[in-house]
Amino acid sequence: MDSWWQLGEWAGVSGSELSTYRITCPFCMEKGNFETAFHAEKSKPNSRKKLNFDTLKCGNCAGYVMCLWSKSSNSFDHNGIHSYKVLPWPLKYEGHPEFWPEAIGRYWLQAKKSLVDENWDATAVMARSALQISLRDHGAAGRNLKQEIDDLAEKGILPPIIKDWSNNIRELGNDSAHPKPDQPPTDPQDARDIVKFLDFLLEYLYNLPHQIEKYRERKEENNS
Ligand SMILES: [Zn+2]
Repeated sequence: MDSWWQLGEWAGVSGSELSTYRITCPFCMEKGNFETAFHAEKSKPNSRKKLNFDTLKCGNCAGYVMCLWSKSSNSFDHNGIHSYKVLPWPLKYEGHPEFWPEAIGRYWLQAKKSLVDENWDATAVMARSALQISLRDHGAAGRNLKQEIDDLAEKGILPPIIKDWSNNIRELGNDSAHPKPDQPPTDPQDARDIVKFLDFLLEYLYNLPHQIEKYRERKEENNS
């Protein structure tokens, strides 16, 4: 996004009203229990585009969040998208993008939560599981993660820069899913590294294609 006026124009969630049911209170973690305490809006000059500035009050703990949101200027009541930014946001991971395969999201979420709780072994195991499923989901062959990454790079599905990077991720070579009695503990930095690698891989294999697909759909809608 290059300008706040683009909020909700090309990417967002369905509906043309703020979907407060999606918002989680950062203080008590209750979801979707908000009333609007303050509302203001600003229109873009000579345009249908409007930015909304809402302060939402949590019905459970009486905490407040600020929400900037806008619907697409091509939106009609039941057939539109909007996007929003909330401050503050919960400092806990609660979900994954809906368009990811469920199992990948489940393992990714557990990797993230384990990272927050500093459970390094669990972080590495969960990250490796999410990686494995996403690589196999793209037809990777090989006996371990490293070989599967190399295979996808050879097929042109992964770019060389990801393959190069994978050479520096120590956890890719470990087999912490089949631990031995003398298994050393996972190094905290190695756990962080593999999650970072996982985040970029998922961005490339799932988020980017999804964004391009959405972009194409909206272009076609606008042209029809
Ligand atoms: Zn609350």
